[in-house]
This record gives sequence, structure tokens and C-alpha cells, in this order.
Amino acid sequence: MSQTPELQIKDLHVSVEGKEILKGLSLDVRKGEIHALMGPNGSGKSTLAHTIMGHPRYAVTAGDIRFKGESVLEMESDERARKGLFLAFQYPVAIPGLSMANFLRAALNTRLAPPEEGTDGKVPARRGIAPREFRTLLQSKMALLKMDESFASRYLNDGFSGGEKKRAEILQMALLKPEIAVMDETDSGLDIDALRVVSDGVNALAGPDLGVLVITHYNRILNYIKPHFVHVMIEGRIARSGGAALALELETRGYDWTREKQEVTS
Ligand code: ADP
Ligand code: MG
Repeated sequence: MSQTPELQIKDLHVSVEGKEILKGLSLDVRKGEIHALMGPNGSGKSTLAHTIMGHPRYAVTAGDIRFKGESVLEMESDERARKGLFLAFQYPVAIPGLSMANFLRAALNTRLAPPEEGTDGKVPARRGIAPREFRTLLQSKMALLKMDESFASRYLNDGFSGGEKKRAEILQMALLKPEIAVMDETDSGLDIDALRVVSDGVNALAGPDLGVLVITHYNRILNYIKPHFVHVMIEGRIARSGGAALALELETRGYDWTREKQEVTS
């Protein structure tokens, strides 16, 4: 446990359109760990997820995000992904005409064969996974996740429910095998179907080679997932961290007491 955590967030300050949203947030996630980040609406949870992913609208004004010992702040989103940081669909747009299967194969090929610039200036040939091999892999992952095979032939996000969008993300995660994955809740908030999909997926994929940060404001998450660590985010900072018992306490007492405690102790 003494080795450097794969994901290190250090005193992170983030502004959106000139307004500071994250105000000194620190958090470490190691492979093999499941962290739940909870907190009321508007506390900055999605801001953190977008910033980890490298969304250009979120400006890091202080602090750092390090992945495997290296700052990612200057990296584009796709570079972060190739290094093994899982980026859920950052812009979950519908792409009619692009099937899930084709999208996933393209995503996997990018992860497998980074488009490195050759020193000779030539564009290197990309050897992706063969279509048949990909089919087999996709089928095995869908079986693992108990997903219907027809899902792979759906068009990307076209008319997807919150739960289906999450199913697509989980499937992408299963194929890309990231070292650290960040899963944010759907914008629709209390979408139990989506939370169940994420939880089942995380439970199926969790293991010593994967670290997960699950973000939700739904405080009954323990009905679905067993996090090793629970963090409460209030107004752009981690107000409290603990084990699974903290989530239980939040379920019965809500968030206000964590706010009070923070004022008393800080
Ligand atoms: P949470 O996910 O915890 O509900 P958010 O990170 O979505 O919180 O939002 C935190 C604060 O940042 C809110 O006050 C929200 O209005 C603001 N915010 C987040 N994203 C944007 C954005 N793209 N443009 C403007 N304000 C934003
Ligand atoms: Mg959010």
C-alpha cells in the first residue's frame, strides 16, 4: 500500500466560467479500491468528473491531478484514456448510424494502438483488433455483464434511457480495461435503473487491477455497491471521509450534519 496511488488529486481548485467550484479537493484512488463520492446537488461532483476527464470548460487554477505519478493536466482527454484512465462518454451525444459495436471497436483500437507520431514524420500504420476477434471479445464481455447481444447493434445513445447510457459506459469500460475508472451519475439524478446498471457493472468488473470512483448523490448506494471508502463533498471540498458506515450514516442523517461538523472541526 506504500506505493504511489494510481490517481492522486491534490488540493484541486477548478473554476467554470470564472466561478470557483472546486476549492481545494484532495483524494487518492488506488487500483483495487472502490470509492464512493457523495454529496448534495451542486456540491461539484460532476465538475470533478469532468475535470479528471479533461473537459476544456473546466479550468484548473491550482493543485494537480496525477495519474501513475504523472500530471495529466496538460494531456488531452484521449491521451488520459490511452494511459488507462477511464473516461465515460464525455459528450453523450446520439450518433445515429454509428452502432455500439463499431464505436466500441474504434475506442478499443485507440487504446490498443496509440497514434504515436513516428520520428520519420510518417503516419504509423495502425493494427487494430480483427473484426472476428473483436466480436468474440465483445460477446464474452456482454455475457459477463449479462447484457443482451442485441444491445451491441443499437445506434450509439440514440434514444437511450439513463440506464442504457450507463450500460454502454460499463460495456466500454469492460473492453478498455482501465486502471482507474470514474463513473458519474446520470444528469437525471435519481435514476435507480442507471445506478443499478453502474453498480452491477462495477461489482462484475472490480478486482485488484481496477480502481473505481463512483459519484452519486443517491445515498442508498450501499444497497447496490460495497465501497471501501466513502467521501462526502460539500461546496467543492471533501468534508468527510470514512468507510461504508459513513454512507449508512448519511442515509439516516442526510448531509447537513457533515456541514456542521466541518465548521466545528475546521
Ligand atoms: P454536482 O454534480 O455535485 O451536482 P456540479 O459539479 O454539477 O455539482 O455543479 C457544481 C456547481 O458548478 C453548480 O453551482 C453548477 O451550477 C456549476 N456548474 C457546473 N458545471 C457548470 C457549467 N458547465 N457551466 C456553469 N456552471 C456550472
Ligand atoms: Mg452531478
